[in-house]
Amino acid sequence: MSIVVIGSVAFDAIESPFGKSEKTIGGAATYFSVAASIFAPVRVVAVIGDDFGNEEMKVFEGRNIDTSGIVRIDGGRTFFWSGEYGFDLNVAQTRETQLNVFADFRPDLPESFRDSEMVFLANIAPELQLEVLEQVRDPKLVALDTMNYWIDSARDGLEEVIAKVDLLVINEGEARQLTDEPNLVKASRKLLSRGPRWIVIKRGEYGALMATGDDIFAAPAYPLEQVFDPTGAGDSFAGGLMGWLAAAKEVNDDQLRQAIVYGSIMASYTVEKFGLDRLREITRDDLDSRLAMFRKVTWLPE
Ligand code: AMP
Repeated sequence: MSIVVIGSVAFDAIESPFGKSEKTIGGAATYFSVAASIFAPVRVVAVIGDDFGNEEMKVFEGRNIDTSGIVRIDGGRTFFWSGEYGFDLNVAQTRETQLNVFADFRPDLPESFRDSEMVFLANIAPELQLEVLEQVRDPKLVALDTMNYWIDSARDGLEEVIAKVDLLVINEGEARQLTDEPNLVKASRKLLSRGPRWIVIKRGEYGALMATGDDIFAAPAYPLEQVFDPTGAGDSFAGGLMGWLAAAKEVNDDQLRQAIVYGSIMASYTVEKFGLDRLREITRDDLDSRLAMFRKVTWLPE
């Protein structure tokens, strides 16, 4: 199955206890598509300025990624995010968000994108997520991610999108913020009542929690000794999860469990180096070998 994604394609400035970068390629749709394309074809809808040149576009090249839905605006500036992490790498503090060319973007999907079977509404303005969703004819699975920036600035639009999706994939902080509920099991139940069939809560180094119907599934994160930069972990997680589902060709509770583990493994690679540096190197074989290790660390005797 093919996946269409809308989300930020960006420049990031990142500071963590382990390093600093003034300008590196980032964006939710960028991390997502690089990750998901290891499993399935991805079509990207986004807008960039002319500061995001052919050199930067190479991040998408040589992969199963169709960039014909990325519009470049002459004289425009690309989305810019600046963030920092303290010793608790689970929480990113936003210093600055500049929407730039995204502020006036009206997505118009290429005809060839409109038959996509899976839709990933990555982190960006809910009104843009909605516009993309309306242009896809008959999606089999629609998933959504968001963050505090949009919960604070576009709450009504966001609630409208949540009601229309099958799967919500969000951070634990955002799950709490959306529900006013500190307990994540209760928060996931509240979120289920707003429409989605599956809620997946990302918990950084503590793994992920899925709720569907009356069931709960908890997966640990792959235990890593070296975490360098957590930026993009959430989007890589979603890319691994959606990519794996697209390749599985079927979506049910069992597939979701496996997809979550592939998402965790994908994210475990992303955080090992700065920005996209590590994710860009990995292959399907890397994922499978880490899956074997994952089975070992989670194995339970009868
Ligand atoms: P994460 O996977 O959650 O670490 O997401 C990191 C990416 O999200 C960064 O590369 C940023 O460019 C992007 N980002 C940060 N804030 C926003 C926002 N408000 N809307 C869309 N994308 C964002």
